[in-house]
Amino acid sequence: MEEENEVVKTFEELGVREELVKACERLGWKNPTKIQTEALPYALEGKDVIGLAQTGSGKTGAFALPILQALLQFVNDAEPKKGRRPDPAFFACVLSPTRELAIQIAEQFEALGSDISLRCAVLVGGIDRMQQTIALGKRPHVIVATPGRLWDHMSDTKGFSLKTLKYLVLDEADRLLNEDFEKSLNQILEEIPRDRKTYLFSATMTKKVRKLQRACLRNPVKIEAASKYSTVDTLKQQYRFVPAKYKDCYLVYILTEMPDSTSMIFTRTCDGTRFMALMLRSLGFRAIPISGQMTQSKRLGALNKFKAGECNILVCTDVASRGLDIPSVDMVINYDIPTNSKDYIHRVGRTARAGRSGVGISLVNQYELEWYLQIEKLIGKKLPEYPAEEDEVLSLLERVSEAKKLSAMNMKESGGRKKRRGEDDEESERFLDGNKGGNKGGNRDKKSSKKFKR
Ligand code: AMP
Repeated sequence: MEEENEVVKTFEELGVREELVKACERLGWKNPTKIQTEALPYALEGKDVIGLAQTGSGKTGAFALPILQALLQFVNDAEPKKGRRPDPAFFACVLSPTRELAIQIAEQFEALGSDISLRCAVLVGGIDRMQQTIALGKRPHVIVATPGRLWDHMSDTKGFSLKTLKYLVLDEADRLLNEDFEKSLNQILEEIPRDRKTYLFSATMTKKVRKLQRACLRNPVKIEAASKYSTVDTLKQQYRFVPAKYKDCYLVYILTEMPDSTSMIFTRTCDGTRFMALMLRSLGFRAIPISGQMTQSKRLGALNKFKAGECNILVCTDVASRGLDIPSVDMVINYDIPTNSKDYIHRVGRTARAGRSGVGISLVNQYELEWYLQIEKLIGKKLPEYPAEEDEVLSLLERVSEAKKLSAMNMKESGGRKKRRGEDDEESERFLDGNKGGNKGGNRDKKSSKKFKR
């Protein structure tokens, strides 16, 4: 069906209860998104749902609203005991492959459930288990978790079980099925009630997801709100072939062309994020790295700085390519071309979310051509070239080379210290945190931010 011919239904018309419609309005959700329009009627009817939805499509709402509605219904329908309505703990559980995504999902549940006193707990790795045990003691209605940590609690947190679970959501299911999670996911599935509703959401449908669907869902309704591997129309995608040795120059050029943008730059390795953030900071950019190598609190700290606008460039690995919802991101740069083309869809899906516009630029060097061509094949289109005069780009070469040298020195120094003391990389961390420590790199940062004018 063509979108123009569709009659736009309201949340109310789809069967959402008044309390929740009000919550949607408060969040500025005027009309349901496509995945919501298609999934909500079935989910509210009590069906299992498989949702294939592109990133930023509003899929969290598509599974959170029916769960909250069922929770309200459950409370209303149950017989009051000693004059009190029941308060069903551990009613729903959402599994997510990343900690950041779990936190974000919990935030949406809390926002939608604020009028109905919803209690939600997040169980993810890298965060103190004691705090989570205390949160479980408050008998939350909804748990959002990564599989490993949820299983840890299910196996050894006293008094905690998911025996009463009514809803299970597997979000980013394709990612939940990789080796890291497979074991704990199977253990969880063995332990939870079979008599429940299950929603499975995935941006991509793989063989493993299909297998999980067969094992886990009952007569589900399949909803595809996107063509298989598409990106949204409001996303402007470009590429630029660049010699490997000038790639940083092109990157800096693009950033100077878009000085007010909020950007995410994707690199392949954790060290790469650090190196690049150091380099960009010594050129005066407000960049911050995030990667799987950082502790959870540092990852959250970096993310919060980026969300708050303190830093406008997040340099990341694919750890940040899934699910993260930061509406202000208007540019994604693929500094390293992903070897798995589906990662491209996830990366550029960080911008142009929920109807906004955004730009995705891929810098392709001579060694990455093959991977880039695979991406064009997957998205089914040839992208236009990012326009730039090479002379102008190369006028930045000297400054960029100097910044790279400084960044390499900083990495080497902090690496050496780390080895000697067996500690975290405190000094360059402080530099990246915003020069609190006044180290050499930090001073350079301030100086060159003034110097760096095109
Ligand atoms: P998601 O795909 O669930 O990560 O959602 C992406 C973004 O869309 C989030 O910022 C949501 O708050 C927002 N969103 C979800 N549903 C709607 C809606 N019906 N109207 C407008 N924005 C929405």
